[in-house]
Amino acid sequence: MAILRVLIYGDERLQTPCRAVEKLTPEIGQLIAEMGETMYAASGVGLAAPQVGVLQRLLVLDVDQVGEDGEKNKPDRLRVFINPQIVWTSDEDSPFVEACLSIPGVEAEVYRPTRIRIRYRDERWEEHEEEADSLPARVLQHEVDHLDGILFVDRLSFIKRQALAGQLRRLRKERETICVPVASAGK
Ligand code: ZN
Repeated sequence: MAILRVLIYGDERLQTPCRAVEKLTPEIGQLIAEMGETMYAASGVGLAAPQVGVLQRLLVLDVDQVGEDGEKNKPDRLRVFINPQIVWTSDEDSPFVEACLSIPGVEAEVYRPTRIRIRYRDERWEEHEEEADSLPARVLQHEVDHLDGILFVDRLSFIKRQALAGQLRRLRKERETICVPVASAGK
């Protein structure tokens, strides 16, 4: 297993819509495990496959680790969403300051629907449909956006985006040197 390299803002794979996962394969199983490891290593709450350069509709999530220092690195809480589809969103929306492992150092308030209903397959290929609210709803929408090639900064108003333009330009320029370390061994 390895910690995967997380692509940084400016890489066009982050702006490319992903294709559906057709079936569970050993490669997908390994990808899920490595994405989990990568997410925990980076202290993220979610990670989408395109962020590690795989253009398939798959994401992992663990919102339970937030704010609990001693509770990190518990892969048993990892949740896997394959081919997720948001089938309903609430009319009510709410603001939340978002960040992204692919856009390090940048944070901004984004409005999104407060509640959603999502259909997906889990890591055993079983189909589910369930409602999510608060942080899970937030993270799921952020990650499903990744699968469509959309980043949270794309959801900001023109004015808010202008305020971040300098930071984003710098990231685009420096992305080759600021990526998270790549694990070399083990494969
Ligand atoms: Zn993100």
